[in-house]
Amino acid sequence: MRRDISPADEAARLVRLRDQFGYRAFKVRVGVPTGHDRDAAPGRTEQLIPAVRRALGDAILLLADGNSCYTPPKAIAVGRRMEDHGYFWFEEPCPYWELEWTAEVAAALAMQVAGGEQDNDLAQWRRMIRLNAVDIVQPDLCYVGGFTRAWRVARLAQQAGKLVVPHSSHLAPITLFSLHLMAALPNAGPVVEFSIEEDANANERLYAPALRVADGKVKLPDDPGWGSGSTPRGSSRPAI
Ligand SMILES: [Mg+2]
Repeated sequence: MRRDISPADEAARLVRLRDQFGYRAFKVRVGVPTGHDRDAAPGRTEQLIPAVRRALGDAILLLADGNSCYTPPKAIAVGRRMEDHGYFWFEEPCPYWELEWTAEVAAALAMQVAGGEQDNDLAQWRRMIRLNAVDIVQPDLCYVGGFTRAWRVARLAQQAGKLVVPHSSHLAPITLFSLHLMAALPNAGPVVEFSIEEDANANERLYAPALRVADGKVKLPDDPGWGSGSTPRGSSRPAI
C-alpha cells in the first residue's frame, strides 16, 4: 500500500511478512494515484517489479495497483514488465473513468486486469463488463451501496465469466463484509485484500473477534450476523 518505500525495503518487508504470517500473495503499488504517467520516485516502478519477484521467489502471487496512474501506452509498457516477472494482476492501470483506455490495456496484455473499486453506478458496471475493461471486478461493498448491489455486480461478472475480489483496503469492517460476500459467491477470486499497513490492533478496536491471518489465510467468523460485533471503548468484548 505504500509508495514512500524503496524497492529494496518493500521487498524486504514483504519477505518478513511472508515468513511471519504465511502470506502467499502480495500487492504492491506502482506509479502515482491519477499521476499522468508519473512515478513516486525516479525509476521506482521499473525497479520494484523485478525486486519484489526476486526476493519472494516464483511461488508467491504478485499483484500491482496503478491507482489510475497511466495512459494506455505507459500502462501497457509497465504491464509487459510485470508479465516478464510473472505478475498475476494489474489493478486500475488507467484513470478509472476512462473505461476505453482500460479496455485497450486489458486487450493488449495477457495478464489479468482488475478494477472497479471506485464505481457505484450499475450502468457503469455494465459498460465496464461489456467492454471487457477488466478481467477481475473489485466492487467496494460500501462505495457501491451495500451488499445487495455488490451482489448484483458479482452476478454481472459471473454471467461474463469474470472473477470477483472486493475492494477492502483497510481493516475496518469492510474486510469482514468482503469476506462474507466472497464466501457466498461461486466466482470469488483466489485472494482476499487484507491490509498490512495498519497497526496490529486497529481492527480489534473496532470489532471482535478481530480478523487474523495464519498460514496465509483469514478465517471468516461463523457466529450469527457478520460474526463479529462492535467493540465498546475499553473492552475487547463485542457489544452485539
Ligand atoms: Mg486499488
